[in-house]
Amino acid sequence: MPRTPTRRTALRGLAVASAAVIGFDPFTRSWAVTDSGRPLSGIPHLDGTLHTDDASLTADADDFGHIVHRRPAAVLRPGSVRDIVAMVRFCDLHGLRVAPRGQGHGTNGQAQVEGGLIIETEPLATIGPVRTGSSRVTVGAGAKWSDVAKATLAHGLTPPVFTDYLELSVGGTLSVGGLGGQTHRHGAQVDNVLELEVVTGAGELLRCSPTRHPDLFHAVLAGLGQCAVIVGATLRLVHAPETVRHYLLPYADLRTFLDDQRLLATEGRFAYVEGQVSADTAGAFNQFTIEAVAYGPPVGDTPDDTKLLKGLRHTASGVQITDLGYYDFLDRLAPSVAALKAAGLWAYAHPWLNLLLPGRRTADLATTLLDALTPADLGPGVVLLYPLLRDRLHTPLLRTPDDPVPYLFAVLRTTPPEDTATVQRLLNANRSAYDTVGAVGGTQYPVGSIPFRHADWKRHFGPVWDRFAEARRTYDPKGILVPGQGIF
Ligand SMILES: Cc1cc2nc3c(=O)[nH]c(=O)nc-3n(C[C@H](O)[C@H](O)[C@H](O)COP(=O)(O)OP(=O)(O)OC[C@H]3O[C@@H](n4cnc5c(N)ncnc54)[C@H](O)[C@@H]3O)c2cc1C
Repeated sequence: MPRTPTRRTALRGLAVASAAVIGFDPFTRSWAVTDSGRPLSGIPHLDGTLHTDDASLTADADDFGHIVHRRPAAVLRPGSVRDIVAMVRFCDLHGLRVAPRGQGHGTNGQAQVEGGLIIETEPLATIGPVRTGSSRVTVGAGAKWSDVAKATLAHGLTPPVFTDYLELSVGGTLSVGGLGGQTHRHGAQVDNVLELEVVTGAGELLRCSPTRHPDLFHAVLAGLGQCAVIVGATLRLVHAPETVRHYLLPYADLRTFLDDQRLLATEGRFAYVEGQVSADTAGAFNQFTIEAVAYGPPVGDTPDDTKLLKGLRHTASGVQITDLGYYDFLDRLAPSVAALKAAGLWAYAHPWLNLLLPGRRTADLATTLLDALTPADLGPGVVLLYPLLRDRLHTPLLRTPDDPVPYLFAVLRTTPPEDTATVQRLLNANRSAYDTVGAVGGTQYPVGSIPFRHADWKRHFGPVWDRFAEARRTYDPKGILVPGQGIF
């Protein structure tokens, strides 16, 4: 005969920010202190649902990294912003930890919370209306960039900057920065936000912008979820091209590749510039490719190859040029992602290394890091190397090296998750790479998996640390938000 679950077995531990432990009783829909049995006041009425079933808790105890697993006590699927206000207030009152989760594509437990509450933002996916006159759109934090692109393109408009992969949530990338090939022209995604609607750690629903609660605005953008949950964002839009011309330009030499990239970034000849490094058949990472894109009408003229490639020192014989629809270009990773999923590789561990190198040291640093890299330690992943322009980056918490042309260097490792010894070795290698880069003014782009402690974060935020910590004290006084980042 199946055992009837008792009230005791139904209680699930919920870690409190202080030492106590309380539980959520799904039968009575109330929270209770497990050590004394003294019930806390019942959970608020919700438009959405609160889940404590095994499947929900297990799903949110994982992310794209598949390395860190912290099991929450409950998962909120909000039916409204009001639900988020109510539950954050509840958690603030009882000192319970909370983490919003967009698409869960962090790689190091950033959106996880042991024994706490996960707020899944996916239901907050409204988009629009698209305001063509003022070129802006307001979207829910759970909207995916693919859907934002489709909705705005219907009006001939587009957000100016995209990440390489579009199935990430707006709230998730605005919490980290949002870098891509258009960043050298338009900054990061966070630099193109006009206004935010947020729920602070104290459960207050506020609008903020550069002129309204600016301290909060600047503490939330690239703020790794530490001061508030983003529930909505008003994004700047620009006119979209209908088609683009996509160039792959091969290089056999790192310095020539970097110099040409720097030229393209500073001149702004292309709308998009990225780059990849791959290994030769002997396993040496010495093959370089610039990926550059020119926009066609109605944003630009029909791309002129002679003009666009003039003076570049790539290997002419290997050039690939393709004309694409603009959305197909934005969504260019979709076929590879489908193939990775079909091959089971999406479920592999991803101990990613994401660094920002000072431009003046990029050649030396990239040489050192690439010399230490083996194809086995990359796995079926990729190495990205491309320039940003510092004067386009205005978000204080997006920490970049003090250099006019920093380079993103990313080793997107993919490795079997069950081989935990290798995963740990790669995490250690990430830390050692970070130390090498940090010693000469480099930073990490905090979306990957670098073992990091409180002191590292203080150093990472450097001159803006005090303001960040002050905003945390003001807007999340009990320190309940997003412990998975390990910052405070
Ligand atoms: C395949 C792939 C490709 C990528 N490509 C790029 C790229 O080209 N450029 C780039 O910049 N990054 C890239 N990233 C990294 C990505 O931008 C970040 O990992 C991003 O945070 C993931 O968004 P998400 O919706 O999955 O967020 P989650 O992983 O769910 O959350 C990330 C962090 O943000 C917090 N958070 C989530 N939503 C909110 C919210 N509404 N309010 C406050 N805090 C919130 C979470 O608590 C967590 O700490 C890529 C990642 C993957 C897996």
